Amino acid sequence: MEKIGFFIGTWGNLSVRIAEGLIVTPSRVRYSELDVNDFVTVSSDGVVISGHRLPSSEAEIHSAVYNKKSDVSAAIHSHSPYATAVSDVLIIFITSPLQWY
Ligand SMILES: [Zn+2]
Repeated sequence: MEKIGFFIGTWGNLSVRIAEGLIVTPSRVRYSELDVNDFVTVSSDGVVISGHRLPSSEAEIHSAVYNKKSDVSAAIHSHSPYATAVSDVLIIFITSPLQWY
């Protein structure tokens, strides 16, 4: 995902649903340095079940998707450069358009 530009540094995250909750990428670990032992297992109510890292700070978003959509088995939350640029521009115009005059 990092090689094709979907993730930058430690931004973005992914998860997969399991019976107990989800397995999610850790927080603050560069994807180029990620090892299978770095993934974190989190229960559906947000409690870390296993793993030696902090779960992604956005694990709650993944859990909410799984709770709402029973047909979703995995989720990728990307911070691609283009999507981030577009969202930043939209946030500027939506939240504070007068600050830029
Ligand atoms: Zn995010």
